[in-house]
Amino acid sequence: MSQRGVSAKSEPATQAELQAAMEKYEFGAAWLPIMLLLPPLVFYMWICMTQNQGAFLVPTSMAELTKLLSLVPGPTLASTLFVALWLGGQALLQIYAPGEWVEGTPLADGSRLSYKMNGWFSFWMTLLTLFFCCWMGWISPTFLFDEMGPIISTTTLFCYGLSLYLYQKGKASSDKHMTGRVMYDYFMGTQLNPRVGRFDFKLFCEARPGLILWVLINFSVAAKQWQLHHTVSTPMMLVCLFQFFYIMDYFFHEEAILTTWDIKHERFGWMLCFGDLVWVPFTYSLQAQYLLAHPGELPTWAVLGIIALNLAGYAVFRGTNIQKHHFSRNPDHLIWGKPASFIRTARGTKLLASGFWGLARHLNYCGDLMMALAWCLTAGVSNVLPYFYIIYFTILLIHRERRDDALCHAKYGADWEEYRRQVPSRIFPGIY
Ligand code: NDP
Repeated sequence: MSQRGVSAKSEPATQAELQAAMEKYEFGAAWLPIMLLLPPLVFYMWICMTQNQGAFLVPTSMAELTKLLSLVPGPTLASTLFVALWLGGQALLQIYAPGEWVEGTPLADGSRLSYKMNGWFSFWMTLLTLFFCCWMGWISPTFLFDEMGPIISTTTLFCYGLSLYLYQKGKASSDKHMTGRVMYDYFMGTQLNPRVGRFDFKLFCEARPGLILWVLINFSVAAKQWQLHHTVSTPMMLVCLFQFFYIMDYFFHEEAILTTWDIKHERFGWMLCFGDLVWVPFTYSLQAQYLLAHPGELPTWAVLGIIALNLAGYAVFRGTNIQKHHFSRNPDHLIWGKPASFIRTARGTKLLASGFWGLARHLNYCGDLMMALAWCLTAGVSNVLPYFYIIYFTILLIHRERRDDALCHAKYGADWEEYRRQVPSRIFPGIY
């Protein structure tokens, strides 16, 4: 096994230093605009999609603004029942569906938490059950599209409630992390791994209700296109298939979530809760929502180009993530047919510096962004809103890379500097 750049003499950072590095790129005063603006933004984009064929709606008078606001629906009996059954059903699957118990990465005190990996089973169980219910005529395939507004309202209210519960629960716990600023703590969360028994709120919300709902919303929108236009267009099929495959792949490699930033470092408060349960399903499905009102076809060369971009993005995304995963389990694992090249850190861990991890320090983000672009391109180029996903996602991943870089620098000191020297690109090889 080759080994380059053996660790410089740097003392491992203390927990307080790591925390300070994390906070450097935390959200500071941005929590207020984020909490105030994101929920209306979700509604706004949904209204643009359903009322204005996916183009921006700009009110030019008080009367138009009042009309726009009146389009924001409150919860209905159907949406409340759906959200209760959906979250309850997914929670029951998380607890009772068969799956292997796997240990997470070590916590600050050296202990590890166990996680039940039954996402693959739960994903297929949910899909097959709902398809059966639609097939039997018990549920309308367009229900999610038809009730989307009230479902957004109900889920948003639920997030505020759940975050309040998590805030109180964290306050009373011995492993809390609080700044003392009440609203900020409510926003960022007060515990890294809030649990009741072995039920882990963060893993559950990150992985289950939001991601599976995203796929189901796409299918429901495709069913609506069929109902309205008697066709499911090729771009609609592509976006549904790409995103279905992305989520299926996620559950197939479910264990890989245990080494992600969110699970290892992010506390669970309003930000992640709203992100997982509202933001992901209702804004990540915008391309399908847009295509409903635009059932036109793309030229064959564009379809082939989009498929190629998605496949290339997937290869980079999955290849990068799985390389790190294999390396962390077995450093002798060959990388592209050769022994791995790595930096041994003073903390005793190893930083992979070959394969995808030798091209850029976060090539997985580059692959994810390539797929995001392919999904957005299915909507053609005449409107900006379907490109919301790639714009937002680019900002998120650039910010996240900065946070991760600051944390890794605090953690690994001179060893991280050596890694930066060997692999200068952050996300896009040779560009950024
Ligand atoms: P990573 O999976 O890249 O994890 C970063 C961590 O990996 C670091 O903190 C460090 O942790 C370790 N690490 C960094 N460099 C190396 C190296 N060279 N060798 C070994 N270990 C290293 O980041 P994320 O968790 O942010 O992302 C995971 C995936 O999820 C990505 O593909 C991303 O695109 C995707 N994602 C998708 C989102 C979506 O909304 N669709 C949102 C966010 C992410 P340590 O020091 O503890 O080992």
